Amino acid sequence: MALSGIEIFKLTPRKNCKECGFPTCMAFAMKVASGAVEIEKCPHISAEAKEKLAEATAPLMKTVKIGTGDYEHALGGETVLFRHEKTFVNKTLFAVQFSDAMDDDELARRMENIKKVDYERIGEQMHVEIVAVKYTGNRSRYLDIIKRLKELQKIFVLVCDDVDAATEAAALVKETKPVLVGANNDNLEEMVKLAKESGIVLGLNAPGVEEMYALVEKTHQLGYKELILNAGSENMAKTFENAVEFRRTALVGQDRTFGYPSIVFVNELAKGDSYLQTALAATFIMKYGSIVVLDDITYANALPLFALRQNIFTDPQKPMRVEPKVYEFANPKEDSPVLVTVDFALTYFVVSGEIERAKVPVYLLVPDAGGLSVLTSWAAGKLSAGVIANAIKSSGLEEKLNRKRLILPGKVAVLKGDIEEELPGWEIIVGPSEAMQIPKFLNELN
Ligand code: SF4
Repeated sequence: MALSGIEIFKLTPRKNCKECGFPTCMAFAMKVASGAVEIEKCPHISAEAKEKLAEATAPLMKTVKIGTGDYEHALGGETVLFRHEKTFVNKTLFAVQFSDAMDDDELARRMENIKKVDYERIGEQMHVEIVAVKYTGNRSRYLDIIKRLKELQKIFVLVCDDVDAATEAAALVKETKPVLVGANNDNLEEMVKLAKESGIVLGLNAPGVEEMYALVEKTHQLGYKELILNAGSENMAKTFENAVEFRRTALVGQDRTFGYPSIVFVNELAKGDSYLQTALAATFIMKYGSIVVLDDITYANALPLFALRQNIFTDPQKPMRVEPKVYEFANPKEDSPVLVTVDFALTYFVVSGEIERAKVPVYLLVPDAGGLSVLTSWAAGKLSAGVIANAIKSSGLEEKLNRKRLILPGKVAVLKGDIEEELPGWEIIVGPSEAMQIPKFLNELN
């Protein structure tokens, strides 16, 4: 639990020497309690007090890392219950489940589907990050499937409560920092030992919230804190309640016992109904699945789920921006035109998509427009004749081009006259108002 200002005050030397910049130790303690000041600002604080405070001021929800290298992802680490309060930080990851009961055709089909769903949306690569492999009793088949899934280069979630099978499976993939979901009240000590030895993240299973609380406490006593909590799959309502209870207990109740990421097996809840599975996955992206396990993935369910995830895990306080610079399409030459757009990511990706569709060599000038759309940035004074002219002058395009044509977005045609004054020698052309008109416009441009 977090310490109150009074509790922190009792840990200070109570000298009121003002060296921390506050008039009294009490004033300093209140600021530390609110998170506005670091305890290190007091040069007289004891090591013992520092240790107590470090524990008390640690994040309420732990950030757990899984995977390695380019495939490493962080889970948890959230600080708010609702995205609009601040932001969510570590996106939900998607898993597709396999099992040793699956025949080769089904295995190959799901693997192929995972490979197919891989596309870019607003600068983010959309694909399934995890393969979950469930053990149902056929050990040699289980290990064989894990070996075959390695070619996908995904993070593994081993779903297995048999310690011997889990030990063999972990040995195959432990260097990739997988998750092992299978520790329970009966096998906890052996599973913690295995997780410690293999350096893997341990997923805990319990029949209810109270049992899960006791299980996490027991795991802490065994000295392990790289954990994920299984929200269960008894029924939809119970699983939802569990996921919310974990998060509320950690962030509102300030109890770190439940301050861990969660995993939700929506495939088990949906019982083969793919529409229900997609609806449940959407629910648990919002509340509060850190890993959502699906039976399969196709574009039909990936498109809405990945879009929702991107929306939920985008910081609402920051406009989605691309880097202001000159982008090149289809190897532009010294007589290629220069289109202008803004650095608002959605606008950029719509415009660049249409330019690619046109297959015409062009430069695309993206000035710093504050991450706003064309009309909004113009209305806010962020996209003006001066801003565009300065971006051209600092881009090096004037030296590179022997024919200087600048295509303005149609929505800011009003800037044409001012830009002509700012950029003598340039032909200023008013382009389309809508991005979808760009291919026709470029193909007809002389
Ligand atoms: S520096 Fe430490 S001892 Fe001095 S007033 Fe601040 S908290 Fe108190």
